Amino acid sequence: MKRIVILGAGESGSGAAVLAKVKGFETFVSDMSVIKDKYKTLMAKYDIPWEEGKHTEELILNADEVIKSPGIPNEAPIIMKLKEQGVSVISEIEFAGRYTDAKMVCITGSNGKTTTTSLTYHIFKSAGLNVGLAGNIGKSLALQVAENKHDYYIIELSSFQLDNMYKFRANIAVLMNITPDHLDRYDYNIQNYIDAKFRITRNQTPEDAFIFWNDDPIIKQELDKHGIHAHFYPFSAVKEDGAIAYVEDHELIINEPITFNMEQEKLALTGTHNLYNSLAAGISANLAGITKENIRKALSDFKGVEHRLEKVARARGIEFINDSKATNVNSCWYALQSMITKTVLILGGIDKGNDYTEIADLIHEKCRALVFMGTDNSKLHKFFDGSGLPIADVQSMKDAVEASYKMAEKGDTVLLSPCCASFDLFKNYEDRGDQFKEYVRSL
Ligand code: ADP
Repeated sequence: MKRIVILGAGESGSGAAVLAKVKGFETFVSDMSVIKDKYKTLMAKYDIPWEEGKHTEELILNADEVIKSPGIPNEAPIIMKLKEQGVSVISEIEFAGRYTDAKMVCITGSNGKTTTTSLTYHIFKSAGLNVGLAGNIGKSLALQVAENKHDYYIIELSSFQLDNMYKFRANIAVLMNITPDHLDRYDYNIQNYIDAKFRITRNQTPEDAFIFWNDDPIIKQELDKHGIHAHFYPFSAVKEDGAIAYVEDHELIINEPITFNMEQEKLALTGTHNLYNSLAAGISANLAGITKENIRKALSDFKGVEHRLEKVARARGIEFINDSKATNVNSCWYALQSMITKTVLILGGIDKGNDYTEIADLIHEKCRALVFMGTDNSKLHKFFDGSGLPIADVQSMKDAVEASYKMAEKGDTVLLSPCCASFDLFKNYEDRGDQFKEYVRSL
């Protein structure tokens, strides 16, 4: 019997373990940290042995194949050892892809993945298709392949998941955009990150679809370099050469494979970035043969995703918006761009090699004040001290909310859109957003 070892017992690892067990492999799970109770219960249900707090080499290096959680870097000592021994190391998505012939709609990009994935899922689900939501959100693909049988999967893929995908084939691949992110995991070389993103098109055939933002400078430059066989479906905010979907005279238009139109005003999600997300989701649904009526309805009644430009409350005429998921500079750019009032911006946290020049003009144009929230705000000071804007330094969300409330004027917006990871002061971006909402609501 072949032995499969799973490294990391989070959502994807525990799901992969269940699928491996169900498919008859000798299965073992190893996690360097403590495994959550719900995943222990799941593994107990399927009688899967596991260890936590360590990686015991004798139990791992004898694997025929290893499934690695996307959180573990390729440079981790145990991964290097496995590679030295020639053991194949794959991702959970790669593994799950072997055991299903469902149609795969895969979404990647530096920003907009979760929103586009959730919106696409909403359209497919509302249209009555038998569809699963997987990848970074929802239940793992592997668990769904083991326990359910869906006709379609809408899968959010990070570059880390794509890194360990080899034979997997996306029937519909969506690439929203590419801007520098996670460079710490790519030797600070953007080309490595770009190559990871383009892996979404690997193994695609001419019957498959590649949907992408036509105006992304990096995608444009790279398009011919990756031997893509899929049919192209480029989208843009405006009608232009090459784009098969765009907005013209306040109407969202998709020309292929079937002509589709709807009033832009009816879209549930607002802002330019969300127009891209709606276009990408609309094209995917169109390709799946969902009726125009169903696409229109679902694009207009989608409720949005928590922590993404989420309206929280108004206090003293000041609007508070939670965009905690903006963990890089580009997503903050889009958030600021969609602001229609003067804004007090809360930003800061763990910097991932950020270049704030990108938002300097928008900050000048839209901001009334800045709140730097992090254990080390020195880089932000270097960039923005010369801006002439009032700046507050804080080390907790409570102080951030109070400082922004004081600095904002009636009619303004307070926007939490941090450009940074959250781990210096919070458990994760959800915790950061939840604390923001809690303190705003108690103002
Ligand atoms: P991801 O899953 O890629 O991190 P999300 O959908 O969670 O993306 O959105 C993260 C942040 O990025 C949001 O807070 C929003 O401000 C911004 N954003 C959303 N869609 C886009 C897009 N298409 N282009 C640029 N920024 C976007």
